[in-house]
Amino acid sequence: MNIDLSRRSFLRLAGAGVAATSLGAMGFGEAEAAEAAHVRAFKLTTTTETRNTCPYCSVACGIIMYSEGDVKAGETAEIMHIEGDADHPTNRGTLCPKGAALKDFVKAPTRLTRPRYRAAGATEFQDITWDQALDKIARAMKDDRDANLVQTNEDGVAVNRWTTTGFLAASATTNETAWLTYKAVRSTGIVGFDNQARV
Ligand code: SF4
Repeated sequence: MNIDLSRRSFLRLAGAGVAATSLGAMGFGEAEAAEAAHVRAFKLTTTTETRNTCPYCSVACGIIMYSEGDVKAGETAEIMHIEGDADHPTNRGTLCPKGAALKDFVKAPTRLTRPRYRAAGATEFQDITWDQALDKIARAMKDDRDANLVQTNEDGVAVNRWTTTGFLAASATTNETAWLTYKAVRSTGIVGFDNQARV
């Protein structure tokens, strides 16, 4: 943008800026707030918005995560702000204190970001890839189901119960995802099926 600014105009603008800051320092909070509101509008203009769901509880509030860094250009995206999604029917932009502190949760140095595995008899966990983790889970489920599925009861009626493996899913999700998860898990015959909302 090419701004044609005379020396006189520049001094007038600079004077207005100093006056606004000074007013704030003298307790004229409204001037300070107005200035902050003006700047705030530009804070997120260069970020990428990603919609998601708060992972904490079964209310499943909608959130928007703002990140810097262009992934398509090979850059690493870094979340720099998270807020409630004003268009989400569940929370209409609001978040409880836990949801409002989500950025700390994402940035926590103790947060697990990859699967970990402790071999039988080992004392230490080791990092493995998601493919390795899913292969292990699939293998263990198949072996256990083949060995323990109860196909009929004592009267010979088909029941197809698999009681030796349980499944813990997340309640912080949409109805559609919950429906699909329920159908997939129950179709295996699993009886012990729960989530953090206990519903
Ligand atoms: S913001 Fe609070 S109420 Fe909403 S899903 Fe997260 S923890 Fe639950």
